[in-house]
Amino acid sequence: MLEFDPYLAPFTTFGIQANADRVVAVESIADLITLFSKKPFPRILGGGSNVLLSGDVEGTVALMRIRERTIEREDADHVWVRFGAGEVWHDVVTWCVQQGWGGLENLALIPGTVGAAPMQNIGAYGVEQNAVFDSLVALDTETLDETCFDAPSCEFAYRDSVFKHKYRYRMIITSVTYRLSKKPVVNTTYADVWNELEAMGVTDVGIADVYRAVVQVRTRKLPDPKQIGNAGSFFKNPVVSADLHEALKSEYPTMPAYPQSNGTYKLAAAWLIDQCGWKGHRRGDAGVHANQALVLVNYGAATGAEILQLATDIQASVLEKFGVELEREVNVW
Ligand code: FAD
Ligand code: NAP
Repeated sequence: MLEFDPYLAPFTTFGIQANADRVVAVESIADLITLFSKKPFPRILGGGSNVLLSGDVEGTVALMRIRERTIEREDADHVWVRFGAGEVWHDVVTWCVQQGWGGLENLALIPGTVGAAPMQNIGAYGVEQNAVFDSLVALDTETLDETCFDAPSCEFAYRDSVFKHKYRYRMIITSVTYRLSKKPVVNTTYADVWNELEAMGVTDVGIADVYRAVVQVRTRKLPDPKQIGNAGSFFKNPVVSADLHEALKSEYPTMPAYPQSNGTYKLAAAWLIDQCGWKGHRRGDAGVHANQALVLVNYGAATGAEILQLATDIQASVLEKFGVELEREVNVW
């Protein structure tokens, strides 16, 4: 197995300075079995784009680098493709669009790996990965058996799955199979996407247009971790009852809210945080991004503890002002 300097800053997008005892790359299931044959078990890291290191990591950090792209089967309408967990997510999306296979184009430019995508059921611009998910294979670290999960057994929900709870640290995802469409129907429900398409002058919209629009909007709007450390949205958008939504809406008529199919409402966490005055706030090297209040940033030398304290203070002020609890989306190690 390839060994790296056990300094972790280059391996997470937050760029927090911390160490592990050992850092290795996992390129096969055999590598994983070797690592999980004795305790203490290593921690798995994909692209490190959804992790905040609260301090040094005891033991080994294993970088998921299993590569595979295999067409399992196809029919007139769909193709089922298995991707190794270490494939880079955006490269996979780009490749699928190039093949003319639809379903993942709205998820372009999300950092990280394929294996982490089912973990929080990644989503953007009205699409979540479970829309085209078929199944995955995971190594059960207790038995060292390979286990297949279909969609219901993954318990996918908004930025959530069984792998964030019951199977956290136990199941290591080694491959994911997506069922992609040969006759795709595009999703342009988000204003940013259709505004971009309009600006591009596209009328007959295909998946390559949506892909390009998403890449352009994201490049313009979201902080690039190569320039400034961050892990994307630090909090989930809260989903509240119809009663609370009504009460808040009468007090804050401009508050954005999106009705859900079960009668609840999704609020925009970024708006709530902004209203509490946090946007652009900086405390040492920890801060809230100036254009996107949902993104906490590391200006260089912030510690995980400083970012966490800032997050806790933001949660407290949103709770006090709106009576709404913000849940962390980022995994804290
Ligand atoms: P990591 O950060 O390496 O890992 C995340 C967690 O999953 C860790 O606990 C890790 O142990 C575990 N894990 C990783 N791989 C495996 C595996 N193979 N098996 C078991 N456990 C594993 N997310 C969205 O949903 N939508 C977005 O639009 C979005 N935009 C983002 C934009 C930016 C700029 C950034 C920095 C992040 C964004 N994110 C977004 C969050 C992040 O990119 C996703 O959650 C991504 O799927 C994380 O992948 P990763 O490989 O980096 O995971
Ligand atoms: P945005 O388009 O400015 O919208 C703000 C919020 O309102 C989003 O969080 C989104 O919820 C919600 N929203 C907007 N239009 C909606 C619609 N038509 N129907 C339902 N909900 C709607 O958001 P943004 O910050 O620029 O991000 C764009 C997309 O990329 C979003 O989907 C966001 O989730 C995703 N993103 C995620 C991360 C991450 O780390 N998780 C980071 C960057 C961007 P949703 O978040 O539920 O979509």
